[in-house]
Amino acid sequence: MGRKQGEAVKVVALALTGHLVKPRWNSLGVKLFISYLAIVGIVVLVLLQTADFIAPATFAAQRGRMLGTSMGMGRAGEAGIGRANAANTEALLNQAFRESLNQGLLVAGGVALGVAIAISLFVTWWVIGPVRRLAAATQRIAAGHYAERVPTGAHRHPDELGELAANFNEMARSLEVNEQRRLELVGDVTHELRTPLATLQGYLEGLLDGVIEPDERTWAKLYDEAGRLRRLIDDLQELSRAQAHQIPLKLTSLNPLEIARVAVERVSAQFKEKGLNFSCDLPANLPPVKADLDRAVQVLTNLLVNALRYTPAPGQVKLKLLAISNTVEFRVTDSGIGIGAEHLPHLFERFYRVDKSRSRALGGSGIGLTIARALVEAMGGRIEVSSPGPNLGATFSFFLPEAA
Ligand code: ADP
Repeated sequence: MGRKQGEAVKVVALALTGHLVKPRWNSLGVKLFISYLAIVGIVVLVLLQTADFIAPATFAAQRGRMLGTSMGMGRAGEAGIGRANAANTEALLNQAFRESLNQGLLVAGGVALGVAIAISLFVTWWVIGPVRRLAAATQRIAAGHYAERVPTGAHRHPDELGELAANFNEMARSLEVNEQRRLELVGDVTHELRTPLATLQGYLEGLLDGVIEPDERTWAKLYDEAGRLRRLIDDLQELSRAQAHQIPLKLTSLNPLEIARVAVERVSAQFKEKGLNFSCDLPANLPPVKADLDRAVQVLTNLLVNALRYTPAPGQVKLKLLAISNTVEFRVTDSGIGIGAEHLPHLFERFYRVDKSRSRALGGSGIGLTIARALVEAMGGRIEVSSPGPNLGATFSFFLPEAA
């Protein structure tokens, strides 16, 4: 096939398969189109070859038989009917030609049909095979077998079925990850709820048995545990909403100093109460940021409360705001208990606590930083942590984008 014809076939094939915009030789449509072309071509070839092979022999046999009969008739007939005889012979020849042609076509048609069926079966198997595998895998996924995958073929440029299989595998992978997260969450939540519940139950049993005095200290302890449970449930609800991007954000252009002012107002009394030195470095010429005031204040308050919680008196906590490449950084540095390098990559994970018992005793749920990260990211920013090591303090920073 010449280059021009090749181009023409390609254009027709692509037009028929709707790929004119993005021409691809190995697309399923082009493959099907070429298969049908091949079937028609091979069938025509087989037809011609078989007819060519069978028709002459059949024609010769028919002609011999019929001419024999006609000559017999001529000898037996009366003289002077030569013209009628010639006409008769021509009619017989025509009939012989038609019969031999029909016979030839019948045999050739049969062979061509057989070949067409064989090729069609192959093409159907070739196309339907992967679709069947996909259908079976979908059923297994629906039955909860999330590890299910289908082969995508080894081609560098897969056809539509290969792409479908790759997309299916991607979907199965994310379903598997989600399922794993769900199981982990249920495990984590169960574990977290069990501790305050066990404490409550222990106190109530003690009260019932008369082992624990029903005094003010006991009621206060019960009240604390119930409060811990409520906080945990509130945090969990907030976390699930934040991670599902269901917290409505009112993103406006804000002065970063406004965010700092509201957060500092909320916590400064607690710093004084604990005997910590709390200082602020708030430059006046910062660019406005695009953020939700309440949520930005929530994140900053969380970082300040953590600094307060994990810095023993007489320690120092510093809030510093600075403009860095189209963002404003809110940096909280403390001189507290610090964080070991091995813990740093996990701090923003749900329920991750460096020292479980200490954090729990201080009222921490281990979800605060996870919520903070989800909120900051929803506002188009990022959050990070660094620490020189245990007992050497820590620095938490979040960056909010400058308002355009
Ligand atoms: P929690 O409610 O337990 O404080 P967070 O998600 O806020 O939960 O913090 C997770 C963990 O990170 C804490 O349990 C603590 O171990 C560690 N952490 C957070 N802030 C600080 C800090 N300023 N200094 C040292 N460790 C911190």
